[in-house]
Amino acid sequence: MTLTASVDSTLTRISAGTEPGAACSPDLVEKPWVFDLRPPSYGPGSSMGDVIPTGSPRQGALPAFYREADAAELDRRIRAAKEALGNRLVILGHFYQRDEVLAYADYVGDSFQLATAARERSDAEAIVFCGVHFMAETADLLSTEEQSVILPNLAAGCSMADMANIDQVEECWEQLAELYGTEPDADGRVPVIPVTYMNSSAALKGFCGRNGGIVCTSSNAQTVLEWAFERGQRVLFFPDQHLGRNTAKAMGVPLELMPMWNPNKPFGGNDASALEDSRVILWHGFCSVHKRFTVDQIAKARTEFPDVRVLVHPECPMPVVDAADASGSTDYIRKAIEAAPAGSTFAIGTEINLVQRLAAEHPEHTIFCLDPVICPCSTMYRIHPGYLAWVLDALLEGQVLNQITVSDDVALPARIALERMLAARPPIADGA
Ligand code: SF4
Repeated sequence: MTLTASVDSTLTRISAGTEPGAACSPDLVEKPWVFDLRPPSYGPGSSMGDVIPTGSPRQGALPAFYREADAAELDRRIRAAKEALGNRLVILGHFYQRDEVLAYADYVGDSFQLATAARERSDAEAIVFCGVHFMAETADLLSTEEQSVILPNLAAGCSMADMANIDQVEECWEQLAELYGTEPDADGRVPVIPVTYMNSSAALKGFCGRNGGIVCTSSNAQTVLEWAFERGQRVLFFPDQHLGRNTAKAMGVPLELMPMWNPNKPFGGNDASALEDSRVILWHGFCSVHKRFTVDQIAKARTEFPDVRVLVHPECPMPVVDAADASGSTDYIRKAIEAAPAGSTFAIGTEINLVQRLAAEHPEHTIFCLDPVICPCSTMYRIHPGYLAWVLDALLEGQVLNQITVSDDVALPARIALERMLAARPPIADGA
């Protein structure tokens, strides 16, 4: 891991004026604990303009020792704890984490790969998940009862996952039942199948499990929609409208048969005929990281680099996906770069920590982010080696801090929805 090429070090140099460039917030050079003590917000980065729901988990004050320790001291403590805990500990790191955290991860991957890793490491008593809240919940769903899943900073949520909550989805479901009834048609297909993206709370996965629905990831969304259309006349897709729209469009579903559901309006802001004719009802959610990418950025990249290959994540808006050369999950992007002949040029539309890391790992290519402004995921940013050292030191003393637990009433149906996904396609899928 080349820390001199990390996003954090780049932001520091930009802030000091020793490197050209721009960041979306000057606060990104601050340590994340500064924001734990301020009024609840997602913090600096791509979600800083999003409204955080009341009651979102908050992180208490990180002890002064960990706030004041320098990088060398934190490094010494983390390595010592890892050494002492051995196989009793596994550290999972999402692709979008800062390099300074991933330096300690035993596994690096997307949300589903990491949840699978958690399941495979049943010997580890403690799973420290350097990612965001829904990922730690999924790891808890797939791990054993004896294992503890720890999120180093409880404020590391996900603004997209927060855009659909269980009360809103239950209310939507009731309104749809009022409109369509609940009886299957002559082919045995029920009126609606709920599909939730992996990037959602365990409560929503549980909702899908209870109501004949399923979970999808960014790499198996089409397979999952095919599964759903075999069983239902239409799909309710949440929380990411873009993944739902991009996937259904690629399957030939016309845009006019994909009404948007706004949870703040009766019937989602739709008239009855739009809902009657619909094939996919899209929840009004989005990822603020991927919403930053534009068609103009792609046009600029193509002008400057005529041979550029533009790869974007399917959480990007539809016009961006349409203008790109290809779209796919983080793992798809990573593998496409690995498979390319030396000397290739890539413009990438996904989170900057992954893009900058790929550029450092592949000096044989030219790799850059479509967005020239550095704007990492606000919630991934909330994890820092200071919190990691804190939770690991506590583990050494037999204390489990920041444990993420999904209650049985939610976990049982949520596992059903995940199992349906695994049965729809073997577990090679991946998440955001
Ligand atoms: S990148 Fe987007 S979907 Fe992923 S954690 Fe951040 S806000 Fe959520």
